[in-house]
Amino acid sequence: MRKSWDAYFMDIAREVASRATCDRKHVGCVLVKDKYLIATGYNGSVGGLAHCDEVGHMIVNGHCERTSHAEANAIVQAAKHGVSTDGATAYITASPCWGCFKLLASAGVGRLVLRGVLPGRAHLRGGPPTGHRAGGHVGPLPRLSESPAGIRGKR
Ligand SMILES: [Zn+2]
Ligand SMILES: [Zn+2]
Repeated sequence: MRKSWDAYFMDIAREVASRATCDRKHVGCVLVKDKYLIATGYNGSVGGLAHCDEVGHMIVNGHCERTSHAEANAIVQAAKHGVSTDGATAYITASPCWGCFKLLASAGVGRLVLRGVLPGRAHLRGGPPTGHRAGGHVGPLPRLSESPAGIRGKR
């Protein structure tokens, strides 16, 4: 059977993740619009700066601060090349953190396809996490789709 578009693009995101340079987390993200791949991103350092796998991590409060997250890097790549992300679908090999979720929502990404949703990522299900709910208007948030059966859990 021919694989679905969701499975196809998630496979590409997994391939992109293999380029990540911080081994604390290998994540890949691809942005797709009208079945057209517009940008890719993986966890990595700012271009031209040292990578974790060369010089070690930059741990601050238990997180590695050296790298930008895959989702942010995909949005940055689109911005750098002047490609609109409005209405795009993001395929991500992990569950986006609140910071990346905000970027994706603000960039107009309309749908997220994830390899399973991590517990503690409540913002993916019902809007901002507790403490971030300031009462202001939140624009349309991306719809959530978990990746098709058969992909999740495979590494
Ligand atoms: Zn690192
Ligand atoms: Zn993130």
